[in-house]
Amino acid sequence: MSQQQFENFTASSLYCEKCKTAMPVRERLLLILPDKELYDYLCTGCASSVGSREITAGEKLMAQRMAKRRPRRAAPAPAIQL
Ligand SMILES: [Zn+2]
Repeated sequence: MSQQQFENFTASSLYCEKCKTAMPVRERLLLILPDKELYDYLCTGCASSVGSREITAGEKLMAQRMAKRRPRRAAPAPAIQL
């Protein structure tokens, strides 16, 4: 269940309270810490913040590794263990 939430949260659209609908979001790097990075998600419609997220060094490494792997066909997304 938490995996489903994670997938929703990393989707490119998030619900915006101002626009009253799910809007495409822009990721903005807020803060870089030694062990994690803090991102802010801005609605592309009204530019208000619709969420934020912390990415730990471990998560970032995992994301980079998966990006490099580049699956050849549209297989189901690799499961992310939290
Ligand atoms: Zn909006």
